Amino acid sequence: MDHKVTLIPGDGIGPEVIGAARKIIDASGANIEWDVVKAGEEVIEEFGTPLPEYVLESIKRNKVALKGPVTTPVGKGFKSVNVTLRQTLNLYSNIRPIKTYAGIKSRYENVDLVIFRENTEDLYAGIEHMVSDEIAESIKIISKKASDRIVRAAFEYARKNNRKKVSAVHKANIMKLSDGLFLKCARNIAKEYSDIEFEDVIVDAMSMKLVLDPEKYDVLVMPNLYGDILSDMAAGLVGGLGMVPGANIGENGAVFEPAHGSAPDIAGMNKSNPIATVLSGIMMLKHIGEFDAAAKIEKAIEKVVRDGMHVTPDLGGNAGTSEFTEAIIKEMK
Ligand code: NAD
Repeated sequence: MDHKVTLIPGDGIGPEVIGAARKIIDASGANIEWDVVKAGEEVIEEFGTPLPEYVLESIKRNKVALKGPVTTPVGKGFKSVNVTLRQTLNLYSNIRPIKTYAGIKSRYENVDLVIFRENTEDLYAGIEHMVSDEIAESIKIISKKASDRIVRAAFEYARKNNRKKVSAVHKANIMKLSDGLFLKCARNIAKEYSDIEFEDVIVDAMSMKLVLDPEKYDVLVMPNLYGDILSDMAAGLVGGLGMVPGANIGENGAVFEPAHGSAPDIAGMNKSNPIATVLSGIMMLKHIGEFDAAAKIEKAIEKVVRDGMHVTPDLGGNAGTSEFTEAIIKEMK
């Protein structure tokens, strides 16, 4: 039976990388019927919002979406489409696998870690105001409910995927109440998983440790903002943002998207690396049970990246997005 999947092209390089992922997934033999819906800047004029109701309805109906990046204007205008989507659909786990691939220029060889970022609260709760003309205040929300479920999701993932260690990242030495609560929840949940090693690490120390020795880490779990920053930093350990996929998962749906943004500096230039979006597509295929198609694409990516003949400029090559895409499709035949 065909799986119905919502497809959101996004803006900037979004349509380019989503187009590539769609072509590759279609060529893999997976039975997908795409429900294409537009969001972002281009729909604002028509619908008065960058996130029209039909986008949310489509995801609620299909329960699964593959999404391109959507631009968020800085300091003005609409609230981020990405944050709104995650909060409205309660997609509380943001999962970002960070892995080295042979052939990609990186300082490390055996990085294989997964970041679990809490996706619904923290400073992203959007509670901000001006205290006076010269002072602004943003409020950080940390709840037991959200902390428990993200830590549990990290441990469940570890158990299911034969991972050995979960590291909780926090700043409870300074934010004794908010991060203190997150840490307390993490320590409590860890007691239910005695088969998996647990440690907690302060976020600044973790930043240094990840740069020094990323091979030592396995599953990391943290509140929203630290997850945002550390996952971009960790992308730098394995060849850049073009290599890191992502999933936003809740009880009622899952939205898969690359970790990178809409990259306006290279939009429309056929220079964007589609791998992060294709890897997000692989996570999506595994989520819906299309394991053979996922394995086929993964193998083809590994081969094309290892050969290095058809990779995009961010990976040190000269190929365009379309050539990279065709090379992966050819490899699957
Ligand atoms: P960005 O990730 O778009 O770009 C950062 C740098 O990485 C740029 O130099 C860009 O060219 C490069 N890059 C990113 N993806 C690449 C790819 N696939 N191939 C090659 N190079 C790539 O980050 P930004 O510039 O801070 O953000 C641009 C916009 O994207 C902002 O409006 C931001 O809010 C939005 N954004 C959206 C999402 C999302 O939709 N989930 C995530 C992050 C940022």
